[in-house]
Amino acid sequence: MTVERFRDEVVDYLTAAVGDGRACPAYGAILTPGLYEHAAAWQRYCAEQGFAGLHWPTEFGGRGLTRAHSAVWYEECARAEVAPYLNLQGIVLAGEALLRAGTDEQKERLLPPTLTGDLVWCQLFSEPGAGSDLAGLQTRAVADGDRFVVNGQKVWSSNADVAHYGILLARTDPERPAHKGLSFFCYDMSLPGTEVRPLRQMTGDAEFCEVFLTDVAMPADALLGGLHEGWRVAMAVLEDERGSFGAAGAVSLNRRLDDLAPNLDPADPVTRDTFAGLLSRGRALGHLLSRCDGDARHAPVAKVMRSEMDFGATERELMANGAVAMLTGPDAAATAEVVDRFLYSPGMRIAGGSSEIQRNIIGERLLELPREPR
Ligand SMILES: Cc1cc2nc3c(=O)[nH]c(=O)nc-3n(C[C@H](O)[C@H](O)[C@H](O)COP(=O)(O)OP(=O)(O)OC[C@H]3O[C@@H](n4cnc5c(N)ncnc54)[C@H](O)[C@@H]3O)c2cc1C
Repeated sequence: MTVERFRDEVVDYLTAAVGDGRACPAYGAILTPGLYEHAAAWQRYCAEQGFAGLHWPTEFGGRGLTRAHSAVWYEECARAEVAPYLNLQGIVLAGEALLRAGTDEQKERLLPPTLTGDLVWCQLFSEPGAGSDLAGLQTRAVADGDRFVVNGQKVWSSNADVAHYGILLARTDPERPAHKGLSFFCYDMSLPGTEVRPLRQMTGDAEFCEVFLTDVAMPADALLGGLHEGWRVAMAVLEDERGSFGAAGAVSLNRRLDDLAPNLDPADPVTRDTFAGLLSRGRALGHLLSRCDGDARHAPVAKVMRSEMDFGATERELMANGAVAMLTGPDAAATAEVVDRFLYSPGMRIAGGSSEIQRNIIGERLLELPREPR
């Protein structure tokens, strides 16, 4: 099926699903706790109707189309303000890692229930002492016969409290250089010794968690990719995560900027100047991403531009509406959403690798500038 014909099919499908209330409203990369039931039902419906795993092979529940078809799905969901998946960590991060590095047994066992939403995933990478410097992580997985014994602590694990599985990065050889001693696992969150503690963030929600792993006996078939080869698998996952800020993200950002324009004070030169800057960068980002067609090298550019502009747009939104009036005036309920977005937006400059780290990657890998001192 041509991409353009498929786009028509997606638009019809989404229009009907928005009309009958099946489509879950968009919530971004992390599943909002209050939307879990709706989002899970939407994911299941999409899987039944052939609108999940569009480029995944049919033997694992996908539709066997191309990545260009998937890109159309994301773009049209962004245009319709509909969630394109239950959670990024499952469909994009775990799903793509399994497709790339999984055995047939792992793919058969884990991919179909991920598509139907029966398996929700989280990402168990960051630790209290390892975020930007991920290779420094300390969680240990010690091989012991047909299992690994896992001990350690993860943090900022989005949706871990509702997840059935986690993609876990752990140290399997402390003697090797930092990033060469890591392995990647599909971790069953129900294993005894797993304790999940939600963390409350400044929006009032608790979307991410601390995860404590104590003497967990993890079956050896949880290993994804080779032993001590986890860094390679994890780096591809991070590229997928940053790439997810792609063309579809530019669609929603530009829509927000268009919505914002009529509410700004055109007489104020600072507002005019800031808004013109945001708008031109937003349009440039949209064009750049529509041309790069999923080229992974653009992922850090998309990530840093999108999250910085989201932050800027949210700041403008707040000022345009008058923050205090919004919280106390007659429109307080409607504008609480803007305040929520404002409190949420700094996190997106950090999640998936901070803006500073993206700029380092752009400098070193894309522009081939000298490496920063380490
Ligand atoms: C909303 C949200 C959701 C998240 N979800 C998950 C998740 O599901 N799973 C998961 O594993 N993690 C998750 N994270 C964690 C995230 O990946 C880390 O917070 C991020 O990588 C930064 O690590 P850190 O917090 O340890 O900060 P640090 O690495 O300690 O950085 C602190 C500051 O120093 C700067 N810095 C560090 N190194 C450099 C450098 N070399 N050059 C210039 N500046 C530098 C950083 O930019 C930052 O401003 C999430 C974070 C957020 C905010």
